[in-house]
Amino acid sequence: MDSGETIKDAGLKVTPQRKAVFEAMTQLCHATADDVVTMLHRNGNDMTVSTVYRVLDSFCKTGILSQVSHPETGRCYYDINAREHSHLFSGKQIIDYDDEELTEMVRKYLKGKEDIPGKINRVQIQIILNEV
Ligand SMILES: [Zn+2]
Repeated sequence: MDSGETIKDAGLKVTPQRKAVFEAMTQLCHATADDVVTMLHRNGNDMTVSTVYRVLDSFCKTGILSQVSHPETGRCYYDINAREHSHLFSGKQIIDYDDEELTEMVRKYLKGKEDIPGKINRVQIQIILNEV
């Protein structure tokens, strides 16, 4: 989908800043705010760090992006994939792991367990791989 359409569909005004951040995220897939700033500056876009943060934040609030925190470094990454999905972590690399069967299995397994004090919203499994 076109970046402008995605932004508009989320109920946000399409601005050059939002389009640039969305396009950077499309290429980076999982990225810290610093990664986004670095890419924009490399492409000759001198957007400020605070503007990039503001745009990323508005994208998260409107469901354009999701967030994932790296289980080993604790760093927060923005994720272009906002659907329910799991991740494989290999060193610094973050890889989407989309397996509906696994997600459904976990959901079914946990359904009705007494030690789950509420309804399950999303299942996001983090699988950490050994570094080769
Ligand atoms: Zn992801």
